[in-house]
Amino acid sequence: MLMRPPSSHPLAFDCPRGWLHVNSDWAILEPVDADFRPTPPGEASHTVLLSNLANRVQPLIRYDLGDSVLAKTGPCECGNQLPAIRVAGRSDDVLRLLAADGTTVRVLPLAIGSVVDETPGLHRSQLVQTGPATIRLRLEPEPGADAAAVWRTASAKLLEYLAGLELRNVGVVRAVEPPEQSGTSGKFRQVIARLPE
Ligand SMILES: [Zn+2]
Repeated sequence: MLMRPPSSHPLAFDCPRGWLHVNSDWAILEPVDADFRPTPPGEASHTVLLSNLANRVQPLIRYDLGDSVLAKTGPCECGNQLPAIRVAGRSDDVLRLLAADGTTVRVLPLAIGSVVDETPGLHRSQLVQTGPATIRLRLEPEPGADAAAVWRTASAKLLEYLAGLELRNVGVVRAVEPPEQSGTSGKFRQVIARLPE
């Protein structure tokens, strides 16, 4: 399956060898165990903390993504020198979106979720794929935040990210309902693919 490099994404991007390279100028990913101690490279972590330094107004510091990741031990075979990780056992789903040319593009939850989370005034978000080329965006603004402004910024960031993946045909729908907890596990999943594989 084709994994296109998202040209517009500032934080992380997929490489031809299937690793997610983290732009260390702008973001720090720290794989940690259940007590938030660093997990050595080559070992699956309990979760991972994201610090996003790109937004100076509202930097994201050690945000718990809830993903188990594996940091690459040696340099990546693709030649990229940036730190590389792979999402090991995730609770979030990989989205498979249909491009205008008929190909299916895989989108990692870690990447697409962090794009939306850069929105100022946003407390929590949830992305639900409801069709081959449709994403329903659930937003929970911070108390006192302008919900319309949060929607405009979050949806614009999402559309820009999708455009970088050659997914300009994908529609983003504003959900009336807020993000929902998973009924079965009780765990919060930021990215949900409802379509069968
Ligand atoms: Zn690589």
